[in-house]
Amino acid sequence: MTTTRFDGRLLTPGDAGYDTARTVWNAMIDRRPRMIVRASGVADVVAAVRLARELDLEIGVRCGGHNAAGFAVPDDGLMIDLTPMGGVRVDPARRRARVQGGALLGALDRASQAYGLATTAGNVSHTGVGGLTLGGGMGWLARQYGLTCDNVVSCTLVTAEGEVVTANRAEHPDLFWALRGGGGNFGVVTEFAFQLHRTGTRTLVAEFDFRAEDAVPVIEGWRDLNAVAPRQATFTAGVAGGPAGPIATLGFVWVGDPDEGRRLLPAMRALGRPVATRVTTPSYLELQRREDSTGGHAYRRYAKAHYLGRFPTAAIEAFLLRGAADLSASPRLPAVGLQAHGGAIAEIPDADTAFSHRGTMFEFGAGARWTDPAEDEARMAAARAAGASLEPYASGVYVNSLTADELADGRGGMRRAFSPAKLARLTAVKTAYDPANVFHLNQNIRPAR
Ligand code: FAD
Repeated sequence: MTTTRFDGRLLTPGDAGYDTARTVWNAMIDRRPRMIVRASGVADVVAAVRLARELDLEIGVRCGGHNAAGFAVPDDGLMIDLTPMGGVRVDPARRRARVQGGALLGALDRASQAYGLATTAGNVSHTGVGGLTLGGGMGWLARQYGLTCDNVVSCTLVTAEGEVVTANRAEHPDLFWALRGGGGNFGVVTEFAFQLHRTGTRTLVAEFDFRAEDAVPVIEGWRDLNAVAPRQATFTAGVAGGPAGPIATLGFVWVGDPDEGRRLLPAMRALGRPVATRVTTPSYLELQRREDSTGGHAYRRYAKAHYLGRFPTAAIEAFLLRGAADLSASPRLPAVGLQAHGGAIAEIPDADTAFSHRGTMFEFGAGARWTDPAEDEARMAAARAAGASLEPYASGVYVNSLTADELADGRGGMRRAFSPAKLARLTAVKTAYDPANVFHLNQNIRPAR
C-alpha cells in the first residue's frame, strides 16, 4: 500500500464510504477505482496526481459526478474526489466568487444570492461547477452575461507534473483560453474565481402546453418570437408523452423583474390555444432547483444532443416526432427539449475562449431515463433515433453533451464540438501542459507526439 499521506481520506474497496464516493449521477456507471482520494485541499490533489503517476494508475477527476459517460470514475485507477472541496467565498464589494474545484452549482448560487448577486450556472443545482464550467456552462443567465466559462476570471490548477499554476489573462493566457471550453484536459482545477452580476433574486417562468398534433405553427411562431426576445428571456420548448397523447410545452424563463417578463405573455398566448398554462414567479434560487428532481440521481440515463443553427419547419416536425414514425408511438420515447442561446453568448468574440458554436440558436437534447437494465438497448436506440432525426439541422454539439460512443468514434465527436482551428490550438496547449496525456478520462484532446 502507499506511504503517501493525505489530509483527506484515502479509500480502497471495502472501506466505509467507498461505494458512495464511486457512485455518480448516471446509474449505468458502475466502476471500481483501486483508490479514491477524498481531497481536502490543494496539497492532497498534488499528492494524488504524483501517486497516480508513480503507480501508473489512470486518473479520474470527480466534481459533481454528472458527466453521463462517467469519466470521473476510473476502473482500477485513482479517483481524485474533489467533493470535500466544495466551499464558496463571495466578495460582494468586488462582485467576485472564489469557488473550490469540487463545489456544486447550488453552493455558488446560494452564496452569491445572499447579496443579490449571481453568475451563469446550469439548470440543476446538484451539477458540479468543475465539469460544467470547463466545458462551457449554459444557464438561464447566459443570454445576459455569457456562459459560465465567460465569467471565469482566474483558475488555480494542479498540472500533470503535480505543479500548482494560476491561469488568467495575464498568467498562462493560452492555458486560460483552453480551460474555458476545453474540458478537464489540462489539470485539476482546485479553485475558480468568477465575476458576479447584480441579478436580483426574482424570476418568472411561463409554460404553455399544446397538443403535439397542433403544434407545428405554434412552434414556428415561438421560434420567431425567440429571434427578437429580450435577453432576460431564455426560450424553452419540450415534448413529452402525456395520458392523452404527446404534449409540446413552449415558454420562457425570465431572470429579472417578473412584471417586465409578463410583457411577453400576450404574444405567447396569441400563438395558439394551449390546453394548459403555467406562469410562476420563483425566486432565483427556486428556479435553480426547479429541475433537481427530474434531473435527479439513481436513474439509468442516455441522451443525444445537438446545437442547432436554424430550426426550419421540417426540423420542428422531427422534433415533435421524437424519432418515431408518428405521434401515436410508444410512451417510452425520450423527452426532447430546446433551450435558446444568443444574446451575450453570441456577442463574445469567438477567439476569446476554446468554447465553440457561439452562433447557436437552440441546444437540442433527447434524454431517456429508466430503471430496468433490460430496457437499456431499447431506450438508448430511441434516444439515438430522436438525435438522428435532428442531425440534418445540427451545427455542432456541446462538448459536455458528447456521449461515450460519439467520443469512441475516432475524433468525430470532438470535431463536432470544436472547429479545426480550435482543436489545433487546444492540441498545442495540451502538448505543452500534459504531453503524456495523464488527464485522458475526459473529452480527450490528444497531445501531439
Ligand atoms: P463530473 O462527472 O464530476 O466531472 C466531469 C468531468 O469534468 C471530469 O471527468 C473531469 O474531466 C472534469 N472535471 C470536473 N471537475 C473538474 C475540476 N475541478 N478540475 C478538472 N477537471 C474537472 N450543462 C450546462 O452547461 N448547463 C446545464 O444547465 C446543464 N444541466 C445539466 C443537468 C444535469 C442533470 C446533468 C446530468 C448535466 C447537466 N449539464 C449541464 C451537463 C454538465 O455540464 C456536465 O455533465 C458536466 O460534466 C458536469 O460536471 P460535474 O462536475 O458535475 O461532472
